[in-house]
Amino acid sequence: MTTITKHLLLGLFFALPFTGIAQKTVLQKEQLLQDIKILSADSLEGRLSGTPGNKLAQEYIQKRFKQIGLQSYGDSYKQHFKLESKRVVVEQASNLVGYILGKKEGFIVVTAHYDHVGVREGEVYNGADDNASGVGGLLAAASYFKKHKPKHTILFVALDGEELGLQGANAFLENTPVPKERILLNVNMDMLSLNNKGELYASGTYHYPFLRPYLEQVAPRPQAKLVLGHDLPEQGHDDWTGQSDHYQFHKRQIPFVYFGVEDHPHYHKPTDEYQNINASFYPDAASLVIDFVQLADQNLEHSRQKKQ
Ligand SMILES: [Zn+2]
Repeated sequence: MTTITKHLLLGLFFALPFTGIAQKTVLQKEQLLQDIKILSADSLEGRLSGTPGNKLAQEYIQKRFKQIGLQSYGDSYKQHFKLESKRVVVEQASNLVGYILGKKEGFIVVTAHYDHVGVREGEVYNGADDNASGVGGLLAAASYFKKHKPKHTILFVALDGEELGLQGANAFLENTPVPKERILLNVNMDMLSLNNKGELYASGTYHYPFLRPYLEQVAPRPQAKLVLGHDLPEQGHDDWTGQSDHYQFHKRQIPFVYFGVEDHPHYHKPTDEYQNINASFYPDAASLVIDFVQLADQNLEHSRQKKQ
């Protein structure tokens, strides 16, 4: 991104003084663990896009959206799209989109992909950390904001086709249910449940430095704290800017923060399963993300001035 576009972007936002200390989100730990456990069960067969296991994941997430009380655009949470990758064509892939209405102008889009890589050589790749954990975090955030009304409308989007080239995020942005230019922020969760150092990375402030103060306000928890980084171009593979669905937002100049843990030995292995997640780190990590969404919701403003 050029410096000029950066300036234009920053011109679109301004921050109000902080409205006090960030609240520490308390979330329903048992529900969170149940969600990740169900979504990473063998019966879902690794949730590869276009498979029956992926459909089961869709059904579960829609059931939870409904339970939580998310609204839908149209008569279903589903946003269908055709997924085409080198390996596979899926005629009807599905993102799942729910929202909670706010009064202020501008939208916050919270995302997590629910697909994973399926079954390989007879082994189920359960994808507990990648990314049943992010979907659990998304559901926890939705429950939280249902009870604590947000100022902005928040969209909760469970994305398909991430593992096949960030295709669900691309489809969502090609066909957003709200005006794309009024999306203030994407918060993407991908791998939240496994880190032995108690560190959850927040990546993106190199590109969007105006978001840094909100992240710095998020108070550490006993088992998890935020660390900023993994977004410098000179970091090569350790620059995570292009590595999950937030990239599709970034490409369209929509600010993002990506939350995720560093790679671990279970990454994209059949051992990425429920029994190997860190059950004390995960709820704390998810609550850090929700704290940030809350701060961003309270403080971001959409400027009415048009882009030059
Ligand atoms: Zn992932």
